[in-house]
Amino acid sequence: MSELFGTNGVRGIVNEDMNIDLATRLGKAIGTWLNGGTVAVGTDTRLSNHMLKNAVSSALTSTGCDVIDLGEVPTPAIQLFTRENTDLGIAITASHNPPQFNGIKCIDDDGTELIEGKEEEIEKIYFSENFRLARWSDVGKVMSDDPIREYIESVESKVDEKSIRDAELKVIVDCANGAGSYTTPYILKDLGCEVVTLNSQPDGTFPGHESEPTEDNLKDLIDLVKSSDADLGIANDCDADRAIFIDDKGRFLHGDKTLTLMAKKIVEEIGGGTVVTPVSSSTSVEDVVKSSGGDLLYTAVGSPIVAREMIDRGAVFGGEENGGLIFADHQYCRDAGMAAAKIVELVAIEGHLSELVDVLPCYALDKRGVGCPDDLKGKLMDDLKERFKSEDYNDVDGLKIYYDEGWVLIRPSGTEPKYRIYSEAEDQDTAKELGHKHQKIVREVLEKI
Ligand code: MG
Repeated sequence: MSELFGTNGVRGIVNEDMNIDLATRLGKAIGTWLNGGTVAVGTDTRLSNHMLKNAVSSALTSTGCDVIDLGEVPTPAIQLFTRENTDLGIAITASHNPPQFNGIKCIDDDGTELIEGKEEEIEKIYFSENFRLARWSDVGKVMSDDPIREYIESVESKVDEKSIRDAELKVIVDCANGAGSYTTPYILKDLGCEVVTLNSQPDGTFPGHESEPTEDNLKDLIDLVKSSDADLGIANDCDADRAIFIDDKGRFLHGDKTLTLMAKKIVEEIGGGTVVTPVSSSTSVEDVVKSSGGDLLYTAVGSPIVAREMIDRGAVFGGEENGGLIFADHQYCRDAGMAAAKIVELVAIEGHLSELVDVLPCYALDKRGVGCPDDLKGKLMDDLKERFKSEDYNDVDGLKIYYDEGWVLIRPSGTEPKYRIYSEAEDQDTAKELGHKHQKIVREVLEKI
């Protein structure tokens, strides 16, 4: 992992580690690296979005790059615009983090997040401060454009509008006061759904609830789906790349359910194809993909890694268990507008969401952690590999050990001084038992270091 960029760009607390000095320096580094060209810059709805966008944009123009200001937009709309129109995209967003956070993320000219190697090149320039400043006559311009309509129409063109319209679905949408407020309700309305919105006025204080679409944060949405007899509920995070669903019975569906459902549907439709997902995803995805005649490919954790692998393998679908779904026939990035339209299409054609979900294979997951200082993480992984060398395991990301009763994934956290332990089995007791046993082993191995 690079020093500056994390799994999803550079993030921090506004005016502490995420300030205009960093934004300016990073903007100059990005512009120097790009060496001319046009950059699209968009933001989510956070209060610090103008401050950071203007700093990054000024810095880019100082290096001779032109900037297109896209305003407040979902990250997938910036990605689509970048793919079609510019040499690079920048999303000013901290995704699902609390309101005091913000971040800067780069998007390559194909619409997919920059690979780590390119981030490292930018980082090198950032730390060396070896910036290429343009002559007075060559500094860049700032223009503006609005990519919202283009994004909405692009999503709508990928689904069967007539079937959705005929089904007369009632959908409750919770945009977490984020950038999805500009797109998700409008997509569903255009497609003929009856739409009721919650927290769908852009507001960077997040007055409705925190931005992460967890069951706790979505209580109002769940209650409203139940009390209004809606067909489904849809929630976005602040930058609207992730979508989480509530079924017609008012049940919160963990992201692995919709990931599994969509993987099954797409592989069935195509009659095969490759699906890509991180090693942390539920076995239910592998089960449905294989039984539908497709191939499942596991990657390390992180949506840019999944997206890049999808491109390389010509995959038909991919995604993460957190509600980040990637549709190869639209664009290679997490795309909440597309996810909403596709799930609504599925419900319109095949029936109640609860029934579609209830027939999927079901596994229980146990998540726990062990504190581990960052400087011991590497040594601990080496020792754990030695400890489990006689077991059936892969090391695509951390250590995933396969047993008859399930699997255990042990991996260092990318953001905190700890190791994460995920255990999956057919029932909760077994998953818990696996988790407990491996937590103990990780502690023992760590103590010996
Ligand atoms: Mg997000």
